[in-house]
Amino acid sequence: MDDLYKEYILDHYRNPRNFGHLDAPTAVAEDLNPLCGDRIRFELAVDGDGRVTDVRFSGRGCAISQASASMLSEDLKGKMLEDVARLSKEAVLDNVGIGISPARMKCATLGLKVVKSAALGEIATWPDEDSSENGRST
Ligand code: ZN
Repeated sequence: MDDLYKEYILDHYRNPRNFGHLDAPTAVAEDLNPLCGDRIRFELAVDGDGRVTDVRFSGRGCAISQASASMLSEDLKGKMLEDVARLSKEAVLDNVGIGISPARMKCATLGLKVVKSAALGEIATWPDEDSSENGRST
């Protein structure tokens, strides 16, 4: 067993939460991490107020990419789309809870990139390449 991965990461990888497809998603995005071959698709159902009412993701790839997307999917229900679009890389890395090397950063943040793309309705930049964002002002 590879002790690089904590047990809960493997648990999310083997039993991904919110995995599958929605019947009528409002917003959909899909992307891949060319460095590792990871692929993630997020489907969101959004109500008239712009609030996420349901979420599914699908994909394949390494444990980090799939587990981080699974963890992220648990945080989305009830959020406003505009807040989803502002989710930070740090929040995702907090979820993953282990040190992510620069080489694996795109694995850990692919799910975030995809879900931001779905929320924005356009392809989002990689979270670690977005230096124009100031983050929270608190
Ligand atoms: Zn990967």
